[in-house]
Amino acid sequence: MSISGLCQICESRQAQERCPNCGTLACEVHYESELGLCADCATQAQPDRQSDDVDIHRF
Ligand SMILES: [Zn+2]
Ligand SMILES: [Zn+2]
Repeated sequence: MSISGLCQICESRQAQERCPNCGTLACEVHYESELGLCADCATQAQPDRQSDDVDIHRF
């Protein structure tokens, strides 16, 4: 299976994969093969350690 087109993230490399989550064409740099997601989705899928204020709502 070959994908024709440029990576929609960097728009400079040939796309290698299409993200199954958002449909973005991604080059090998911007496709996380371990997660099977583009770089954008991989970032969102991984735990965000920067937002460390876990706001637990207690009622
Ligand atoms: Zn790219
Ligand atoms: Zn994606």
